[in-house]
Amino acid sequence: MKAAVHSFETAGTLDGPGIRFVLFLHGCPMRCIFCHNPDTWAAGAKKLMSAEEIFSEIKKYSAFFAASGGGVTVSGGEPLMQPDFLIEFLELLKRNSVHSAIDTCGCADLDAKAEKIIELADMFLLDVKHADPDGHIALTGKSAEKPRKFLERICGAGKRVWIRCVLVNGITAGAEYAEKLGEYLKPFEGKIERVELLPYHTLGVQKWRELGLDYKLEGVAPTSPETAAGFRKILQGKLPVTEIA
Ligand code: SF4
Repeated sequence: MKAAVHSFETAGTLDGPGIRFVLFLHGCPMRCIFCHNPDTWAAGAKKLMSAEEIFSEIKKYSAFFAASGGGVTVSGGEPLMQPDFLIEFLELLKRNSVHSAIDTCGCADLDAKAEKIIELADMFLLDVKHADPDGHIALTGKSAEKPRKFLERICGAGKRVWIRCVLVNGITAGAEYAEKLGEYLKPFEGKIERVELLPYHTLGVQKWRELGLDYKLEGVAPTSPETAAGFRKILQGKLPVTEIA
């Protein structure tokens, strides 16, 4: 089984705990208007690699992972779009006692393959794109239903869960939305370990231009640290026992 690989990062510190090898896979069902990796969207890939080939790269850095409490994060794109590879890869990591995290938008059917992935993965970094159903469609082009069910399932399975939310000025960065997000996440408090707030930035805009895509957030300013701090305070008030980062 070969994966459609976009790229990998050998010493990531932003995608899960510790120092991590981050594998970016091709393909994504969503079209988030703030996406900074639109070059991962296409399911076809120039680079195909087997789980063993990727693991031979990972082995070079395993000492760093062990010392830092890190491991491997599979990101994208959307890793759940390559479930057969993912199952094989997660089994390989487990056999070698390497910690695994899946960075996902949760837009997947909870079929037998997804259940196997949930069983095998040590943790999930799940994006909550928008807490409101209409807002979710406007922001991503997809319904919020599958991601919500995915969140319920991984929390129900007792998995370690970090939630990630992009704060976009005028859409998901205001006080009213912070309240709404708090309500959305409230039923999962005690099961979600951490919520990471990611201020919107414009670093991916050039990729949209290079791909000839229409960037709908043209002119929207990056979210300031002050806005993020205000948002964090409101959300922390709604979710007092959750770490808000
Ligand atoms: S889910 Fe991630 S990769 Fe897919 S469009 Fe959204 S931000 Fe981009």
